[in-house]
Amino acid sequence: MGIKEKLEEVERRITAAAEKSGRQREDITLVAVTKTHPADMMNEAIAFGITDIGENKPQEVRDKFEQVLPVKWHLIGHLQTNKVKYIIDKVCLIHSVDSIKLMDEIERQADKHDLEMDILIQVNISGEETKSGVSRDEVEELLLYAAKLKRVKIKGLMTIAPKTDNSVTNILHFDNIRQLFIDIKQKTYDNVNMEYLSMGMSGDYETAIECGANIVRVGSAIFGERNYSQREHRKGTEI
Ligand SMILES: *Cc1c(COP(=O)(O)O)cnc(C)c1O
Repeated sequence: MGIKEKLEEVERRITAAAEKSGRQREDITLVAVTKTHPADMMNEAIAFGITDIGENKPQEVRDKFEQVLPVKWHLIGHLQTNKVKYIIDKVCLIHSVDSIKLMDEIERQADKHDLEMDILIQVNISGEETKSGVSRDEVEELLLYAAKLKRVKIKGLMTIAPKTDNSVTNILHFDNIRQLFIDIKQKTYDNVNMEYLSMGMSGDYETAIECGANIVRVGSAIFGERNYSQREHRKGTEI
């Protein structure tokens, strides 16, 4: 199957999952995750209707930005403060904010470029130590801090489900974050708007949508397996 057929399949499944959860296809944003893939593959997907793409490394955004057709870029991976400057004027949404230090640097860079930046707080609800993201208990500190910021706008939550073959575990995980999302929505925090719930990847995007996600981040189900050996050749472009 080529990208076109894979994309059609993903589209069909997103539509079905949206309808199952009482929503419509338009209520869900599909972010096509293009990490490790070349610009021409990205342009092919854009030609087939992809409007949003996601990268997990700032240097890939920087390197591919000029070669890719106009599209909305999302930064979905761990972001070091010293790399915010490479992506601040290129992405529309940063999904992976997990510290006040990072919020401060995004504010500083956004101010420098005279723009506003939408962010999501990455929550690590499963408590897995290897994953980035703040714990459920730490979320409020970041929400309260948003009141101090003028350029940075908190727009929702993001999570990565633990790798598991047990879909029941994922449902519990997604339900948990959905509940947190609703709890925050019911309180009022200055400069916080719970619009986006970003959860679900190739293996679990339908489950995530059924649990309330309105952004899914899908890579391999559209583009096939990633070739990480390419990375070695790219070392020269590391920043
Ligand atoms: C790579 C990645 C994805 C997509 O993963 P697939 O399993 O290929 O769909 C989604 N979210 C994040 C944060 C990623 O790094």
